Amino acid sequence: MTCAICDTAMVPDLTPGTFHCSGCGFFASKLPVRINDVARIDEDVRERALKPIRLANFQQLLDECADLLPNGTRLLDVGCAHGWFMEAAKTRGVICIGIEPDRDMELRARSANHDVIAGFFPDAMPDGARFNAITFNDVFEHLPDVNGTTSALLDYLQPDGVVIVNLPVADGLIFRIARAAARLGVTGPLDRMWQRGLPSPHLSYFTARTLQRLFERTGFTLVRRGQLSSVATDGLYNRIRYDRTIGPAKAAALYAAACAVRVMTGVFSSDIQYFVFRRSGS
Ligand SMILES: [Zn+2]
Repeated sequence: MTCAICDTAMVPDLTPGTFHCSGCGFFASKLPVRINDVARIDEDVRERALKPIRLANFQQLLDECADLLPNGTRLLDVGCAHGWFMEAAKTRGVICIGIEPDRDMELRARSANHDVIAGFFPDAMPDGARFNAITFNDVFEHLPDVNGTTSALLDYLQPDGVVIVNLPVADGLIFRIARAAARLGVTGPLDRMWQRGLPSPHLSYFTARTLQRLFERTGFTLVRRGQLSSVATDGLYNRIRYDRTIGPAKAAALYAAACAVRVMTGVFSSDIQYFVFRRSGS
């Protein structure tokens, strides 16, 4: 396997089907992808359990990128899944279109009144579509061809548009701990981080530096970077508590569920980061 970032030959990493590049620090996998192919009950339950964390992260991301996404921004959300990010962005006056290859997810997003293109980016994109912003929320790590996808962004982005990527990173504390455990023969946490055995496992694990290198070699410049840190904290509790549509008992239950999920899945804040890129020279 050749590194997608620096073209060095990658070596097998600690668990089967995963690889590491000693040249740049990029991780990749050849774990099987079975979208639209299997019953997804378990994964759907897990997704729903994660919803409070995802929403809190989306709200923080939208807060920190509010100046980049003014009222009337046309945004494409790649791999929009249930449409939760679009739901959050629309309340801030952003005009959202999703693209989603999983038929079940696409139908769910549609039934929630979102505008969704069925299929993969960029293959399913209509000719001439242009956006002020293109987002990848917990999606970029699932892409089979990161160079192809990054290059294609230039075709669908307005000249001054932004690409926002948020994803789990290999620089994170939990990923490092999981690798340390795998060295000792305990591979469960690392398998979990790769989402081994799920229909859409992670195919890449970027460090901040390798993601930046990928975008730079395609003609983008990093303009902002941050950590999504509102996971299972008092901030999350307050967001839940002060949403007037949620009663106190339900809020407490949601908060407890978020804390439990945080422990179970290892989704800690420092492992989730976001990156904003612009076309170089714009
Ligand atoms: Zn490399």
